[in-house]
Amino acid sequence: MRSVSIFGSTGSIGESTFDLLMRAGGPTAFRTVALTGWRNVARLAQQARALRAEFAVTAYADCLPALQDALAGSGVRVAAGPAAILEAADRPADWTMSAIVGAAGLAPGYRALRHGGTLALANKESLVSAGRLLLDEAERHGATIVPVDSEHSAIFQALRGEDPAAVEAVTITASGGAFRDWPLERLARATVAEASVHPNWAMGQRITIDSASMFNKAMELIETHVFFGLPSEAIGVVLHPESLVHALVTFRDGATIAHLGPPDMRHAIGFALHWPARGHLKLPRLDLAAAGRLTFATPDPVRYPALGLAREVMAEGGLAGAAFTAAKEAALDAFIEGTIRFTDMAAVVAEVLARLSGSSGLGIAPASLDNVADMDREARRLAMDAARARGQD
Ligand code: NAD
Ligand code: MG
Repeated sequence: MRSVSIFGSTGSIGESTFDLLMRAGGPTAFRTVALTGWRNVARLAQQARALRAEFAVTAYADCLPALQDALAGSGVRVAAGPAAILEAADRPADWTMSAIVGAAGLAPGYRALRHGGTLALANKESLVSAGRLLLDEAERHGATIVPVDSEHSAIFQALRGEDPAAVEAVTITASGGAFRDWPLERLARATVAEASVHPNWAMGQRITIDSASMFNKAMELIETHVFFGLPSEAIGVVLHPESLVHALVTFRDGATIAHLGPPDMRHAIGFALHWPARGHLKLPRLDLAAAGRLTFATPDPVRYPALGLAREVMAEGGLAGAAFTAAKEAALDAFIEGTIRFTDMAAVVAEVLARLSGSSGLGIAPASLDNVADMDREARRLAMDAARARGQD
């Protein structure tokens, strides 16, 4: 029986993963080693009972008594706090879903690679901040990273059986987010509630806001660069409001292979779950006649400055990705808290990159997760300073 663990099992990706595991037979088909969540311990406990998990962890230490109560008599071992999340990652599993949001997702995914199994990687901060370290660790232990983002899963699938050297270019699509059609001058007044609604995808709040600002697509550009080893110039972004084409790969003979599917993350998660086989998934199917038309356009760099910042990060390399994600997270926090405006997020990140550029070893490749954590702290501090300064304007 295959053993599985889910990090961030109560989130949007985590719930979809849980759903797929249950549909595929739940505890009769999988041995669930560990499930982790944060404050929603009631839901975490339900999932742990349903999958008969061996270990359930809340990252939030104060929630331990509530989790203990909810799982009393179940036989599920419980623990709390960031160290317990790592303990969960140290328990060997054949297949691990990395779906914690933010920088907190990096260490558990990295640790899970030691088991040499499959890491289904949804946490995009991991590849952006420490991609090379992850890829090297996977190679050291014979582990496979299967990307779980619609775009990267699409590229991964389009490349199956192809010679990577024959790839000329890759294009990832972007819906354009909540403010695609807003007049530019209105963006500065966009509220958190307005930014938290996605036209096509149901996702966690943070990634939904990142879709409106295209920081999400910026992260995906960097992920594509790192994971598939492609230069920045070979990776393009095209606006595609229907979100049905996820990515396209163009080969040196001029052929382009596109991956299409309904905007439902269970397709990418299900692909990773059954990889290298193809599962039999009863999920929505693509209906092109119902869609009617597929449209594409070039994203406006003024509306989406995050895309230009991603290009800077790829040019700099090294720890620039770690600085970028950390500054972006701090800027996003400041926007959600109401300190800065929607349009200030990109300005804050640009300021942090400019301040770090040419100093602090920004372009130096990290040798360990500690280097990444140090850069993360420094970039967050600078971003919070920059956000406070803007907030006072
Ligand atoms: P979410 O906010 O819905 O869920 C996040 C999960 O992480 C929850 O289980 C939460 O309890 C847990 N968590 C939050 N803070 C934590 C902390 N400090 N320590 C430990 N656990 C913590 O997020 P999501 O939308 O499911 O996204 C998860 C990751 O997958 C993100 O990195 C996101 O960018 C990426 N991703 C999401 C989608 C999507 O469709 N939702 C698509 C592609 C990639
Ligand atoms: Mg995506």
